[in-house]
Amino acid sequence: MNRETSRGLFERAKKIIPGGVNSPVRAFRSVNDVPFYVKKAKGAYIYDEDKSRYLDYVMSWGAIILGHADEGLIEEVKEALGSGTSFGACHRYEIVLAELITDAFPAIEKLRLTSSGTEATMSAIRLARGWTGRQNIIKFRGCYHGHVDSLLVKAGSGLATFGIPDSSGIPLDLARHTYIADFNNIDSVEEIVNKNKDIACIILEPVMGNMGVILPDKGFLKDMERICRENNILLIFDEVITGFRVTYGGVQHIYDTKPDITCLGKIIGGGFPIGAFGGRTEIMDALAPEGNVYQAGTLSGNPVAVRAGVYVLDYLKKNRLIYQQMDDYIKRLKEAVLAMKEKYRIPYRINAITGMWTGFFTDRVVDDYASALESDRICYERFFKSMLEEGIFFAPSPFEASFVTSQHGEEELSRTIDAFDRVFAGMAKR
Ligand SMILES: *Cc1c(COP(=O)(O)O)cnc(C)c1O
Repeated sequence: MNRETSRGLFERAKKIIPGGVNSPVRAFRSVNDVPFYVKKAKGAYIYDEDKSRYLDYVMSWGAIILGHADEGLIEEVKEALGSGTSFGACHRYEIVLAELITDAFPAIEKLRLTSSGTEATMSAIRLARGWTGRQNIIKFRGCYHGHVDSLLVKAGSGLATFGIPDSSGIPLDLARHTYIADFNNIDSVEEIVNKNKDIACIILEPVMGNMGVILPDKGFLKDMERICRENNILLIFDEVITGFRVTYGGVQHIYDTKPDITCLGKIIGGGFPIGAFGGRTEIMDALAPEGNVYQAGTLSGNPVAVRAGVYVLDYLKKNRLIYQQMDDYIKRLKEAVLAMKEKYRIPYRINAITGMWTGFFTDRVVDDYASALESDRICYERFFKSMLEEGIFFAPSPFEASFVTSQHGEEELSRTIDAFDRVFAGMAKR
């Protein structure tokens, strides 16, 4: 694919934007490449400045579930825009969105909106500390919760590929309050809890998306729930990706677990900046102006983002078949690709749940951070570049999820399967 215009833009960007990007993974560094510049996106496809079209599996990192530039959504947003872009005051639709969310998540009795997922997890942690009067938190190796100081310790996603265990600029005194446990290893959680009495909360992605998709073992989430209850520790589910993706009520619905606080983002803004955190009334009422935990935002509950979110959630609520469709898509893709992996003898393994999946270049089971890291990065780089040549855009990093939407249909599925055949054949030859 010709990327001349994109290359020119990237050179220009690098002069005035650090690394040329506003979020590190967009720089394509983990795959030793340079980014294309997006001109527009529609349905399951994204178009770049050099007039190439790519079938999109990044989908704004999972924020898009109805496909790009959905017409109903655009109409709704146009109407919202006509009434003003920001009020900094109360409006009707923030209640409608909150009602849709509490309706879908029984564990959320009250919630507050923020402008990003990062703000949601940051505020949830402060709330947990304020409510319990304790300082320490537990997170899991490889779980990413946004760029919050206390949570940028052993985080996955961009950080996993860059091999930066921590970010600089985080006070050691703060990082000290974050304990690290291993996903799918309840003993590692129990050990920390038994040794330390000052734990405010445990935060995790109940299905990991930021080391690629990693599912919880049977009983893992339930055990965590029990440990939290026994020790008066608040359990925080970061469902920023999984929220309305794996099913309408998130991972907690599928695994029948009840976190004390849930963080949401991505899908609930329909592609606009948003986040939310919510939980039991008594906990949420510790927030100002009701309680003493301060949290605020000039653009929180932004009317345009909220109207977009209301549209998407309402649509999903009335069209649950979308989940079935996304599930079928991934199942059929998985079946076809696994047969091909046999045919070409390529070590490859797929972890999947409704709406999201990851292919790891390894033969062993991927069920935690360490096993995900076994995935061959050189293979992924080759895969990524060959797929891009085929007109298919996967995440520019091996430790990410691929996302499907309601717009990924039969045509997209067969295009992808055909591309896998050619790409795997090419990889097997070398
Ligand atoms: C994306 C993400 C965040 C951060 O959300 P932003 O809107 O990027 O700040 C937090 N947690 C998880 C699980 C995420 O995937």
